[in-house]
Amino acid sequence: MRIILLGPPGSGKGTQAQLLVQRYGIVQLSTGEMLRAAVAAGTPVGLKAKEIMASGGLVPDDVVVGIISDRIDQPDAKRGFILDGFPRTVPQAEALDDLLRHKHLKLDAVIELRVNESALLSRVETRVAQMRERGEEVRLDDTPEVLTKRLASYRSQTEPLIHYYSERRKLSTIDGMMAIDEVTRAIHRQLLALGAVEPKTHAKTHARSAAKAAPAKTGAKTAKPAKKPAKAAKKATKPAKSAKKAVKGSKKAAKKTVKKSAKKTAKTSVKKALKKGAKKAAKKVTKKRAKR
Ligand code: AMP
Repeated sequence: MRIILLGPPGSGKGTQAQLLVQRYGIVQLSTGEMLRAAVAAGTPVGLKAKEIMASGGLVPDDVVVGIISDRIDQPDAKRGFILDGFPRTVPQAEALDDLLRHKHLKLDAVIELRVNESALLSRVETRVAQMRERGEEVRLDDTPEVLTKRLASYRSQTEPLIHYYSERRKLSTIDGMMAIDEVTRAIHRQLLALGAVEPKTHAKTHARSAAKAAPAKTGAKTAKPAKKPAKAAKKATKPAKSAKKAVKGSKKAAKKTVKKSAKKTAKTSVKKALKKGAKKAAKKVTKKRAKR
């Protein structure tokens, strides 16, 4: 599954991304986190990004696109990923479309977390207070002044992506003002509706009850696959074990018959040869007798 989480700073993208990672076993690709790591490590990208990030501006598109393209190629991203904080501009979204096309990957959904702007400042203030309490280093850009700038850049550069993805029928909007677990549930429901996740438990229960209802005749067949065939449903539609056994059995039987008929032919040809030999010998005897 590959999804994008879209929303202004403080909308809960990071929190939801982490919860989705736990739930679906996919990775979170946060350009903000990657850039902070690059700044901390003092890499060339980090040196480029440091000042821009501290002032609340956006790092050049080619830099973040390069980072994301490399990261998607890592083995842990093969099962899927959640993009958090990327794309942030229309050119980044276009570049993402291109690189996914090149890598033969499909984007499943773009989830927009919609929040009241008035709540954002207090959310970020709470985040800062909590980080201080835990003794964690507070982000340099989590100040009211820089947040105002980050919000302005979200409005002017990132918000157009809502239109970009809704035009491409990828956008789902979720009320980000709900409690954290309610937002997670809403995202999950949305992903189910889109067929981006497998309704595992549902499909299993469904397959089991179908098998119970008519085990002999219908069995697995009655387990209708969901919109996108779920694993359990797929399993159910696969040939049953007994059918496999039957195929194996018939193969064995066929082998046996082949062996038997080979034996038979061998036997008959031996018999024939013996008969022929006997006939020849008898002929010789009669010839000898005639001569005498
Ligand atoms: P975030 O952690 O997503 O809030 O990002 C922190 C900062 O990193 C942003 O304010 C930008 O300066 C920079 N950044 C993160 N992602 C991007 C991106 N996709 N494009 C440009 N700059 C980014």
